[in-house]
Amino acid sequence: MIIGILALQGDFAEHKEILDKLKVESILVKTKEDLEKINGLIIPGGESTAIGLLLEKTGLGKQIISKAKKGLVIFGTCAGAILLSKKVLGKKEFSFALIDTVIERNSFGRQNDSFEEKIKTSFGEISVSFIRAPKIKSIGKKVQVLGKLKNEIVIAKQKNILIATCHPEITLDTKLHEYFLKMIR
Ligand code: GLN
Repeated sequence: MIIGILALQGDFAEHKEILDKLKVESILVKTKEDLEKINGLIIPGGESTAIGLLLEKTGLGKQIISKAKKGLVIFGTCAGAILLSKKVLGKKEFSFALIDTVIERNSFGRQNDSFEEKIKTSFGEISVSFIRAPKIKSIGKKVQVLGKLKNEIVIAKQKNILIATCHPEITLDTKLHEYFLKMIR
């Protein structure tokens, strides 16, 4: 099994570190050819506007949508979750629109308001970071909630698409990545 990590911008190196820790082979995805080699894809945190522009420019965006519709399992963290959501409040930029969620950018506050937190999930307690994190404002009927921080939904899934508004790759907690790998197997 080879996991692809979209490496246009953002914290792709941290995701690679977690997969290395789990002894799972991974490649950095920068071209359409790279997409042909993988069994699952991670869209990292970073700046969703920048990643979106690059996805359009390289044509990778369209290719990823078509692979997702054929069942490719995709896991997006933070900016990745924003890009995967069906609707981003106030934004008219690139979106994969692959999960039926409405999301609002920078909704937990600014960079200075970043925090680390333990959250309860359906696969145990995990330690994660929130960095200029978005909030999931509403979900469609087919979306399953997997993790919450107080009343906020922070991890959700719809069929082959998994999103987290936080960063498990920064605290190096492997549980969420293990869950993603199970979705592929
Ligand atoms: N606020 C960023 C955005 O809107 C996401 C931040 C992150 O990925 N940590 O793209």
